[in-house]
Amino acid sequence: MNTELLYNHFLQSTGVSTDTRKIGQGNIFFALKGPNFNANSFAAKALEIGAALVVVDEEEVIPENDDRYFLVADVLAALQHLANYHRRQLQIPIIGLTGSNGKTTSKELLHAVLKQKFKTSATVGNLNNHIGVPLTLLAIAHDTEIAIVEMGANKPGDIHELCEIAKPTHGFITNIGRAHLEGMGGVEGVLKTKTELFQHLRENDGKVFINSQDPILSNMAKRFENPILYPSKGDYCEVEFVEANPFVKFKVDGKEQIYLSSMIGAYNFGNIATAITVGKFFGVPMDQAVQAIVDYKPSNMRSQLLEKRSNMIILDAYNANPSSMEVAIKTFGEMTGRKHKMVILGDMYELGDSTEAEHQKLGELVSGYDFDKICFTGKHTQAALSTAPMKALYFPDPFSFRNWLQDSKLENYLILIKGSRGMKLEGLVEFI
Ligand code: ATP
Ligand code: MG
Repeated sequence: MNTELLYNHFLQSTGVSTDTRKIGQGNIFFALKGPNFNANSFAAKALEIGAALVVVDEEEVIPENDDRYFLVADVLAALQHLANYHRRQLQIPIIGLTGSNGKTTSKELLHAVLKQKFKTSATVGNLNNHIGVPLTLLAIAHDTEIAIVEMGANKPGDIHELCEIAKPTHGFITNIGRAHLEGMGGVEGVLKTKTELFQHLRENDGKVFINSQDPILSNMAKRFENPILYPSKGDYCEVEFVEANPFVKFKVDGKEQIYLSSMIGAYNFGNIATAITVGKFFGVPMDQAVQAIVDYKPSNMRSQLLEKRSNMIILDAYNANPSSMEVAIKTFGEMTGRKHKMVILGDMYELGDSTEAEHQKLGELVSGYDFDKICFTGKHTQAALSTAPMKALYFPDPFSFRNWLQDSKLENYLILIKGSRGMKLEGLVEFI
């Protein structure tokens, strides 16, 4: 493929698009194929609604003498090559980040910090896969000074592939936990996949930021000559956890002043500490970095605080996997503020062979706390009943659960709601 030629088109375009519903005037449309669609057949439509050029890999769809079609062997590969070409024109640091949980949150926090000093570009939303990363790179303007690229993985090799495209110069792993176990081949697979980022950085003289309080990650620090460690005393950057009740409070540089963030749950402390550390490394003054964190208000579905009558609800229905459940329940166990406590836990998906065992562990986990009410919902959570306390309730279908919630007329409860995205547990809130 002639990447240079396509790049010239890109420079004259208004950007790229892979979705006919979102084509902007003057965009280059990449006609991708998926298991259930083939966008080659939308190529003509894309031109009609404003695309300046369409990249296709099926010659049959090209009308005679129409130079608005750009034929390649494989559209996805063309998109990735173009993104890599663009990346190489940009002589800027690119911070790559991956991990089992907290990628998007860390990315947003870091973006808020780096914006204080640099023209910063970051992954939009959750565009973190083999299509999203190229789109993220192609959205980086020529005057951008630094970029943050979120990388997600479903199977070993994914992060390696994304690194080859994005060529990060700096990076961090939020944590290594039990998520997407199905395609990963268990926790070992997760470990291997996530460390592909570190391997890339090691081979390319990149810099890594390592949370020294995470045993798995700090073990990896040994393989690097000069890793940037945080957040303990004596590390490159010191950030201290104060409490999370429910919002994280923290201190910096060993000083007494306590800062209050709008981030819920102790697990967000690591995300905050990472953003401050990376900011410090790139020269963002500490007071500005801290202020950016304090001012940051999460606007997405992740960990929201809602009030319903006398009840306070922590709604964490964006996603769930064994490790994020564990930290969410642990930090909830330490929260105070209402007379009673209740957890509503839904199915965790994508666990493959570990599904039953991981839900049994969930039952054990809640047994360690003195919650007044424990409710499970979804077919997988039935397995949790064998290990959960006797008082745990199980609702196989949402309807019976809603009725029960309505009839219970809960008052003065602190409630945690967490489950996989597909469970759509946010729908329960109106019945509380
Ligand atoms: P995805 O795989 O969907 O891209 P992600 O890694 O980007 O997820 P976020 O979207 O930032 O993760 O957060 C999703 C949920 O993970 C949050 O609602 C919260 O419950 C949990 N979470 C966030 N940060 C952490 C963390 N550092 N450790 C464990 N769990 C976390
Ligand atoms: Mg994400």
